[in-house]
Amino acid sequence: MQTWEDYVRKVVPYTPGEQPNRPNMIKLNTNENPYPPAPGAARALRELDLDSLRRYPDPAAGVLVEAIGEYYGLPKQQVFVGVGSDDVLAMSFLTFFNSKKPVLFPDITYSFYDVWADLYRIPYECPPLDENFQILTEDYLRDCGGIVIPNPNAPTGVEKPLEELERIIAGNPEVIVIIDEAYIDFGGTSAVSLLPKYENLLVVQTFSKSRSLAGMRIGYAMGNEKLIRYLNDVKYSFNSYTMDVTALAAGVEALKDDTYFRETLQKIINTRERTKRELHRLGFVFADSKSNFIFASHPKCPAKEIFEALKKEDIYVRYFQKPRIDNYLRISIGTDQEMDVLLGFLEDYLK
Ligand code: PMP
Repeated sequence: MQTWEDYVRKVVPYTPGEQPNRPNMIKLNTNENPYPPAPGAARALRELDLDSLRRYPDPAAGVLVEAIGEYYGLPKQQVFVGVGSDDVLAMSFLTFFNSKKPVLFPDITYSFYDVWADLYRIPYECPPLDENFQILTEDYLRDCGGIVIPNPNAPTGVEKPLEELERIIAGNPEVIVIIDEAYIDFGGTSAVSLLPKYENLLVVQTFSKSRSLAGMRIGYAMGNEKLIRYLNDVKYSFNSYTMDVTALAAGVEALKDDTYFRETLQKIINTRERTKRELHRLGFVFADSKSNFIFASHPKCPAKEIFEALKKEDIYVRYFQKPRIDNYLRISIGTDQEMDVLLGFLEDYLK
């Protein structure tokens, strides 16, 4: 006999990193920024006219779209915003991946891509990274329904040179190529400069990492006008008011303070480079990272053991029980003091 359950859209959901809230914990498990948002963003929230909350926000998120456009030198018609880049990516999958051919993304990558593909019943294939965690350009020069490449990749942190990405974009003019640049500000080279050349390119970024606003949920996409129009058509068929009044206010102010932005990034990059040296000294191995995390393995001690031992100390890193990467830890870059505690513990633990 058939039941209502036969008609349920069944999915295996994405598992976000833990969000523990313990006093004095060191939280290096979700690639959050260890520094506060720009002072202007905090001020905008403190000074928010609460009466404005009676009204719906601007469905076009005009002030934020324009501010992002201005920052990158793009007209507002080339910018789309959403509730974190997760929302932007989910909308993009729904809008652009409607082919019977498989969408391509790497086997080791952001673990939300296959969840969206399954949710929307999009066929996909995952070309494997090589043994050094490199994305192989040739794997993406073939007939397909679309392409998603995070640059730098997550959770590996590895950056793919822009010339190689351009070969993939140029080689696939009949499908949309999404470059997910969640971590690009930590030292990578953005594909935004390629936008005037390729109408099949969509670049997705976020305020969650480099702008310290993960809790606010602001993501955006940049592409040619036609792509952005199609994205907005789908968005308006789903939820018109995605960006709330607080996100609009804080987002615009965060963009204005470029000095604070650059100083914060530089601090994180310096801490990352120092952490790389220290981890190497302790015997860890890892591919070079251009992001705000390091994906490391220790030849003498299983990652899962280190993960559990760190957790007992209230130091949280990310561990994925998945093929090929189950002996790795993804360690987000915190403040220098936080990294010192982590490194001090590891030094004793691995003795
Ligand atoms: N893309 C990648 C590669 C990520 O690691 C993340 C963070 N989990 C996101 C997108 C989504 O980030 P957010 O929704 O906070 O913008």
